[in-house]
Amino acid sequence: MVNSSMYALGAARSCIRELFEYGLRQQAVVGRENVFDYSLGNPSIPAPPAVNDSIVDIVRTEDTLQVHGYTPATGYPGVRQAVADDLNRRFDAHIRPENLFFCCGAAPGLISVIRALAVENAQILAIAPYFPEYKPFVEANGCRFRAVPADTAHFQIDFAALEAMLNPQVQAIIVNSPNNPSGTVYTAQTLKKLGVLLEKKGLEYGHPIYLIADEPYRELVYGGVTVPFIPNLYANTIVCYSWSKSLSLPGERIGYVCVPDQVQDSQEVFAAVAGAARVCGHVCPPSLLQRVIAQCVQYPPDLAAYDKNRTLLYTELTRMGYSMAKPDGAFYLFIKAPNGDGDKFSQLAKQENLLLVPGRDFGCPEYFRICYCVDHDMIIRSLPLFQKLIAQCQ
Ligand code: PLP
Repeated sequence: MVNSSMYALGAARSCIRELFEYGLRQQAVVGRENVFDYSLGNPSIPAPPAVNDSIVDIVRTEDTLQVHGYTPATGYPGVRQAVADDLNRRFDAHIRPENLFFCCGAAPGLISVIRALAVENAQILAIAPYFPEYKPFVEANGCRFRAVPADTAHFQIDFAALEAMLNPQVQAIIVNSPNNPSGTVYTAQTLKKLGVLLEKKGLEYGHPIYLIADEPYRELVYGGVTVPFIPNLYANTIVCYSWSKSLSLPGERIGYVCVPDQVQDSQEVFAAVAGAARVCGHVCPPSLLQRVIAQCVQYPPDLAAYDKNRTLLYTELTRMGYSMAKPDGAFYLFIKAPNGDGDKFSQLAKQENLLLVPGRDFGCPEYFRICYCVDHDMIIRSLPLFQKLIAQCQ
């Protein structure tokens, strides 16, 4: 006998993975150059050379036992210090090394925070469109998941919808900016307004409503757009960060949870995050990678290739008549299906070997997602198919 919820989660096929694997099979049938795969968010720019240099240097010069040994559960003190210094330098934040809990990327960080906040009858809200994994993360860790409908005009936050969903059981709201899947960046104005609302409601309910800022795309922004550091705008913000995208290291599993001092009951929250990580076995993120981060935290990603793809797709698809959120960050475009149905449109596209992810699992069934960390030439070759598909819907 097995746990039926875990069985259902493990046996279900992720739509994104299924598309990706379909693409691999189709490549064998129609040729690699005839499959246009926009499904998976795997970085397509390599990690900065400094990362590989640092790995080689550490392995060659440091004590092998230590390099591959267990580390303190919260992360090496020197690494926490380097990251705190970097945050303070860039955002005028007041982060101490003790506010940082190192973990294996944003996903386990999110799970630890959710579990830490899972009091009886707790609800956790996410703003649509949202990363599909939030739902199982929340539901499998003792909270009820509720999605706040999308502001489809600008992909910021529909405050009327959010306010209508707030109640004393709401423990936290997950926000993700730059956003997967819309590529939008929440403005300082949006975040300040959110902070004011949560402050007011927290006072009314007699407990804080925590903001969980999921930030794996923090450094992936274009055209001079800035990403506000949310703890500077709302005190009860807990940040989940990852270097999966910013340093193109998704397979190396390294990130942190930041619980700043100004978070209400910050020490209890931090301890509960550590406890949750402990029972999930999410302790001791890779020792080698922690050392690499201490040396490379200041390196910004070279976004030229993503920006080139973004500009081409945004320009060409809007010219054809597709409508989408302005993609200021991450590496996604979230596009309204010209026939009004993301599932059906993706099916149509699949027949042309154009692999687009339907928006249903992101909480917006009328949309589809394009992930543009792909070969630029593939984009150029795929454009006639987008033209053909929109023509079929008119
Ligand atoms: N949050 C969002 C919005 C993501 O898009 C992803 C990965 O694609 C994650 C979290 C998980 O990232 P990590 O690789 O750091 O676990």
